[in-house]
Amino acid sequence: MRKNFFIKSFGCSANKSDAEVMAGLLGEAGYSLTSLEEAEYVLVNTCGVKQPTEDRVISTLKQLSSLNKKLIISGCLPRINFERIVKNVPSFSAMLDPRSVHLIVDIVRKIDEGQNNLVVFSDEPPIKPSLPKHLLNPVIGIIQIAEGCTMACTYCCTRFARGSIYCYPNYEIVKEAHGLIEKGCKEIWITSQDNGIYDFEGMKLPDILEGICKIEGEFFIRVGMMNPLHVKGILKGLIESFLDEKVYKFLHLPLQSASVRILELMRRGYPPKTVMDIIYEFLEYFPSLTLSTDIIVGFPTEDDTDLEDTIKFVQKIKPDIMNISKFGARPGTEASKFEQLPHSVVNRRCKELVQIAREVSYEKNLNWLGWSGRCLIDEKGKKDGTWIGRNFAYKPIVVKSEQNILGRFLNVEVVEAKSTYLLGKPI
Ligand code: SF4
Repeated sequence: MRKNFFIKSFGCSANKSDAEVMAGLLGEAGYSLTSLEEAEYVLVNTCGVKQPTEDRVISTLKQLSSLNKKLIISGCLPRINFERIVKNVPSFSAMLDPRSVHLIVDIVRKIDEGQNNLVVFSDEPPIKPSLPKHLLNPVIGIIQIAEGCTMACTYCCTRFARGSIYCYPNYEIVKEAHGLIEKGCKEIWITSQDNGIYDFEGMKLPDILEGICKIEGEFFIRVGMMNPLHVKGILKGLIESFLDEKVYKFLHLPLQSASVRILELMRRGYPPKTVMDIIYEFLEYFPSLTLSTDIIVGFPTEDDTDLEDTIKFVQKIKPDIMNISKFGARPGTEASKFEQLPHSVVNRRCKELVQIAREVSYEKNLNWLGWSGRCLIDEKGKKDGTWIGRNFAYKPIVVKSEQNILGRFLNVEVVEAKSTYLLGKPI
């Protein structure tokens, strides 16, 4: 008899890829992915990057633990806040960390044998690009090029879960890209906690991109987040890689703050000028670049002048996407020991910045009005009969169609701009 499992994943693309690995391995072992109602095993692939995410994960876990199903808790939270999970969900089938995803089939077998409350943590990750995957979106192939990080940012708890850097062999990464494109993927996501630091026996991110660009076929590559500090060292090669039409003109550089003092307290390792220089260099080659950044508001000791620095910075460089988070102390981090700012102050500053972000991204999107060209439909839209396409700059363009057009390349014209997306019509 085939056994069924349901999987729910929180967090970033690396975590989503881990969910796909676990689903792939379980699939190969004869288990099938199904709905929550029908599932015997419920896998919750957690994230603990921020307090609100952790709260949502805990509430989901509490709800699911009452269903009388076999609950498996994976992802980052077990390593970040084990105590809180156990306090809220004292009885579970198994818990594992991101470095143990390859052990999922063994874990499920042990549960079948009657074991309970199993905890499996590993020191070294498996070579994730070589593991089977069940793609949650058949158009998008996510490749993890590394696990962990070299930095010690004072606010970050992800490194407790993902550990120090472990880069996967470049040839395994390119091989995985080959396999994904053969399977029909039209978009390859390059992901890790910091793509800029990738180094496998001297091979860097541009070498991986060069290898993937050489693969025949019509597809795009989306390069995920890179710490600006590490982009500096590969800037020339990276720009050369981006010149290939297969690479989306999309840059995700987390700024976090434009105050020199706050960046030092965060221990980010770069001044705001480094970020500015990289952006200008990219814009010189790619004027239609989509720029995405992350900002933390209300870091301990931040004052109005620090915020002003950040506001001036974003008004100058005008990012298309700003992921703004209110600072929240994470367990075990250095910043959790700093004196915290009052919530009212953090809320006020966050509101101000969100408003500016909305205005800036709307202004940027207006530049696309009347643009026409090719885009790849890579996602279903939120509303029925709508689809999300991406053009060469990874701009989201919503188009209407009653047919299933997922994975198709369409020619569209942008007819309306919103602050977070564009509306297009097929031409
Ligand atoms: S790596 Fe960070 S964002 Fe991704 S799942 Fe883990 S805690 Fe969440």
